[in-house]
Amino acid sequence: MLKAFDGAGDSAEAVVVDGAGLSRERLLGAAGAVAGRIAGASALAVLARPTVETVVATVAGLLAGVPVVPVPPDAGPGERAHILRDSGAPLLAVSAADRDAEAYGAQLLTVDPSERGQAPAEPSDDSGTAFVLYTSGTTGAPKGVVLSRRAIAAGLDGLAEAWAWTPEDTLVHGLPLFHVHGLILGVLGPLRVGGRLLHTGRPTPQGYAAAGGSLYFGVPTVWSRIAADEPAAKALASARLLVSGSAPLPVPVFQRLRELTGQAPIERYGMTETLITLSTRADGERRPGSVGLPLPGVRTRLVAENGETVPHDAESLGELQVSGPTLSDGYLGRPDADTGTRTADGWFRTGDIAVVGPDGFHRIVGRASVDLIKSGGFRIGAGEVEAALRDHPAVLDAAVVGAPDTDLGQVVVAFVVPRGPVTGEQLTAFVAERLSVHKRPRRVVLVPELPRNAMGKVLKQLLLQQC
Ligand code: ATP
Ligand code: MG
Repeated sequence: MLKAFDGAGDSAEAVVVDGAGLSRERLLGAAGAVAGRIAGASALAVLARPTVETVVATVAGLLAGVPVVPVPPDAGPGERAHILRDSGAPLLAVSAADRDAEAYGAQLLTVDPSERGQAPAEPSDDSGTAFVLYTSGTTGAPKGVVLSRRAIAAGLDGLAEAWAWTPEDTLVHGLPLFHVHGLILGVLGPLRVGGRLLHTGRPTPQGYAAAGGSLYFGVPTVWSRIAADEPAAKALASARLLVSGSAPLPVPVFQRLRELTGQAPIERYGMTETLITLSTRADGERRPGSVGLPLPGVRTRLVAENGETVPHDAESLGELQVSGPTLSDGYLGRPDADTGTRTADGWFRTGDIAVVGPDGFHRIVGRASVDLIKSGGFRIGAGEVEAALRDHPAVLDAAVVGAPDTDLGQVVVAFVVPRGPVTGEQLTAFVAERLSVHKRPRRVVLVPELPRNAMGKVLKQLLLQQC
C-alpha cells in the first residue's frame, strides 16, 4: 500500500514534520524497529501529535499488519479514555516527551525516530484492517470506523488520478494527524503516491507561505485566515493546487483566495466512513460552493425521505448515499450504528443533505440532523441563511440552527460573530432583502466566536443548547 517504499530509498527528506525530517530509508528503518516490537498485537494506539514519531508509529502499524488507532492529543481525558477503551488497543505509541502519558490501561511504547530496524514486507492481504479511525465527534461521541487497507488504497488512487498527484509534488499542511484529512490524505497520500510531505506543525498562514510546496491542504478556518492575510495568500500563487475539505468553504473565502492567488481552490468532501468521496478535478471546473464530482470508483445517489430517488436538477434536496470501494467495514462494536447507516442494497447513508446538478456537480447543504431546518412545513438549508448573513460587511462568521418551537416545529436562529459594529436588528433587516420570509432568522445572537472542534467544524449541538 505504501508505494513510496518500493525500490531504492533516497537520501532526500521525504517527510518533514514541524522541522524534523526523515528520508524514506530512515523512516522505513525507524518504522521497522517499531514493527518488530508490536508484531502480533491486536491494535496499536498512537498519541497523534504532529510529530515524526506519529508518522513512524503509523507506518510501523501498517508494515506489521497491526490496526492503528490514532488518539487526539488535545482530547480531554474522557475522550482519550473512550478511544483507548472502546478500541481495546493494548499498546499506546508515544514520543519520548510523552513517556509519562496516561495510557488508560494500555502499555506505553516509546518511539525513537533515530532507531534502525529491518522493516517487514507489508501484508499482502488487502482486506485486513489498517485503521480504527474515530469520527470528529461533531454530532455526538466519536465512533470508531474500521478501515481496510483496500479502502484506503482505493481512495488515495482515486484522488491521485483526479488531482494528477505525482511523486514530484510536495504536500504542505498543518492539520491534526488523527482524522482522514490530515492522516489518511495528508500522510498516507504522499507515501502512496511517492511525493514529499511538509507538515508545518500548526496551520498558520506564515507557515504555509514559507513552505514552498506544490499541493496545500486546509480546513476552511485555515483558508479563511490565509484569505485575510494578503502576503501569505500571494505567496501561494505558485502552488499547483489549494485544497479545502472537512467542512463547507464559504463562497467569499473561495473568491478572495482566487483573487489573491490567481487560482480557485479545489473542494473535496468525504467522511471517516466513506473516505474520499467527491472532489473537483485538477483539470476541471472549480465552482464556488460545490464539492464537484464522485472520485473514480465512487458512486453516489440522492434519496428523499420517502425513499424515492431525487432528480439531478440542481434544486431538489436529498440525502447523499455512497457506494464503492472506499466504504469502511463498519463501526467498531456498534452493530446498531451499522444497521442505521447501511441501506438494504449496501449503500452508506451519509446523513448529509446534498443537491446535484444535471452536470453531476454536487453541493453539500449540510447535515440532516442540524443543518436542515423544518419550520412551518418549509425545509430550510442552514447554509443558505449563513451565506446571506456573511454577505454583510460587518459579519465575520455565522452559524444557523433550528431552535425548537411549539408552533412551527423549529425556527431559524442565527449566531453571528461581528467584525465591526452591527446590531441584530440591522442584520435581520439586511437578510430580509435576500431571503424569503420563512428563511429569515427569528433571532440573531451576537457572539465573540463560534464553538468549533479540531477540524474547524461548528459544534451546532452546543449552539442549540443556548437556544
Ligand atoms: P461525527 O460523525 O462524530 O459527528 P463528523 O461527521 O464531523 O463527526 P468526520 O467523519 O470527520 O466526522 O466528518 C465528515 C463530515 O464532515 C461529513 O459528513 C460532512 O458533514 C462534513 N464535510 C466534510 N467535507 C465537507 C465539505 N467539503 N463540505 C461540507 N461538509 C463537509
Ligand atoms: Mg459523521
